[in-house]
Amino acid sequence: MHDGNYLIKCGFEFLVVSFLTHSHFFATVPGNKNALHQAFQIASIRVVLSVTPMFELENVTVRFGQTVALHNVSLTFPSKATTVLLGTSGSGKSTALRLLLGLIDPVAGIVRYTGRNTLEIDRIKLRREIGFMTQDGGLFPHLTLAQNICLVSQYLRWPEQKIRDRLEYLLSLTRLEERLLASYPHQVSGGQRQRAALMRALMLDPTAILLDEPLGALDPITRFELQNDLKEVFEKANKTVVLVTHDLREAAFLGNTIHILHEGCLIQSGRYREMLESPANEFVSRFFAAQRLEAFS
Ligand code: ADP
Ligand code: MG
Repeated sequence: MHDGNYLIKCGFEFLVVSFLTHSHFFATVPGNKNALHQAFQIASIRVVLSVTPMFELENVTVRFGQTVALHNVSLTFPSKATTVLLGTSGSGKSTALRLLLGLIDPVAGIVRYTGRNTLEIDRIKLRREIGFMTQDGGLFPHLTLAQNICLVSQYLRWPEQKIRDRLEYLLSLTRLEERLLASYPHQVSGGQRQRAALMRALMLDPTAILLDEPLGALDPITRFELQNDLKEVFEKANKTVVLVTHDLREAAFLGNTIHILHEGCLIQSGRYREMLESPANEFVSRFFAAQRLEAFS
């Protein structure tokens, strides 16, 4: 490769890498790839490489009885980037995460993990390659934080030293105080519980972590503190991250690319600023206005 600018195709998105400025960014152009191609050719981008994204949803529909939880949704989740699913309650965000985890299957469309249809992948293996964290942390109440964090690694008979080393690394990464490891979930604060839940999600060194409103149940100050820490964790851990939130500020702060879902449909994809400047429809405008982010722009 030469110095210059490169356009790397990641499923439905493009990663634009500039070796001249040592920077990169994601561009999402649903239905308009040719125009982008031409634009970057003019801008002297030299090579187009194809990179398999970590996850892909292709024309996916999910139904629960009469409810259409996702309707013909196509989404790409590039490796090592933080992709945010943003939307109001009931928009299909958790359903999308459950698809990626292989907990449910679509009635139509394809879900891919590293290019492979998840229908063809051993679900237990898939589950162990993906860390998962929920709004309430999902820790077992009768186990200490340490037992919760180490449960699966012990089940998999990791050597004790390996478990200790990983635990030590994750304590410093998530900034959980070591003395709390012997506590039970109800004995620690909400923020500390979520730090332990994050350690548990990262314990097996997964390729990806999926977080479903991980800070949704926290008070504003703890939430703010954890947003900052999460950003640092995402950068240091260098993993593919999928974050679900209904908080626009959080999405803008933590995400590389944001996808807005509404009533099971994908409404708009891009970066925060692009969406703010040209909202795809009335819903996106109202969503932005409702979160009173004028001062943030
Ligand atoms: P979000 O996470 O954005 O709040 P969900 O993905 O949980 O939304 O839900 C999307 C829609 O699907 C909602 O209308 C919800 O009621 C419905 N739904 C989700 N899971 C189930 C389920 N297991 N059974 C029936 N309906 C469900
Ligand atoms: Mg949800």
